[in-house]
Amino acid sequence: MSSPGSKSVFDAAPYVRSGAHAFLLFGTEGAPLKETAAAMSALWTCEDQAATMPCDECPPCRARRAGGLVDAQVIEPMGNPPILGMEIVNEVKGTRADNFEGVPLRKFLRTRPMVAPKKIVSIHDIHRANKSAANALLKTIEEPPDYSRLVLTTTSLSSVLATIRSRCVCLAVEKVSSPAVAGVPEWGHIARDEEETEHLELLDQLLEKSVSSEHGECIRNGHLFRKWADEWRERRGLSARQGIADALTFMAEWCLAKTPESHDNLNATLSAHRLILGNVQEGLVLDVLFMQWAGTRQALPR
Ligand SMILES: [Zn+2]
Repeated sequence: MSSPGSKSVFDAAPYVRSGAHAFLLFGTEGAPLKETAAAMSALWTCEDQAATMPCDECPPCRARRAGGLVDAQVIEPMGNPPILGMEIVNEVKGTRADNFEGVPLRKFLRTRPMVAPKKIVSIHDIHRANKSAANALLKTIEEPPDYSRLVLTTTSLSSVLATIRSRCVCLAVEKVSSPAVAGVPEWGHIARDEEETEHLELLDQLLEKSVSSEHGECIRNGHLFRKWADEWRERRGLSARQGIADALTFMAEWCLAKTPESHDNLNATLSAHRLILGNVQEGLVLDVLFMQWAGTRQALPR
């Protein structure tokens, strides 16, 4: 967010330090709403409450980077069509509620933070909240505990209950045109700054190498890929699994751009992506994937 060279996300630090309890981030499709919410959450949970960037070293920062900070919770709509139901605010019984893996907002905010200075709830696509959830949420926004902070995001500001809008600090988050990544136009939307562009260029080189390497090198390629994903995870403040899932998405896009003739590579990548999201052991998935990828370039008509 406020890292050097980052132009995409506005500087949230002054808002984070303002003492306001509830924020509503809005922007068009593709705007970095989730990233901004994550950046704000990172600032609130860092022990250095005056910092303009999370220190990344204090216990809550370390827990966040490892994907296990108990004081921050992210809630997204679920189901088809995706809905934010009452279960996100209060405990309810029923099929939908049983599928909700988070802690209902009220319960979550009832106790003080355990590690971090603040307790954060981020709720994405708040325009997908049904009436009962939106009304229940309103009460929490009106009487928030001192230590709580709430970040809501939406791509449809006008669909958010007016009473919610009026009780939040509303901030516009703009979509940014990002620098192009060499040879992979599909990646144009990803990089938020030059550092990320450079990082993606490394992935491009690694994938280029992987399709034309010997089978003996595939384990090493898989290892380098994990290392790449790990750096990406740190950069974006993701969980380890999300880092790899992101990298596999980029890899699938790379296939479409660079080897459109090879459906096998694309399919192998997409199925690895599914397995990662399904909690299958990542080392195994990547070893198999890079084994499938190795040597496919020679077989392709160039
Ligand atoms: Zn910190």
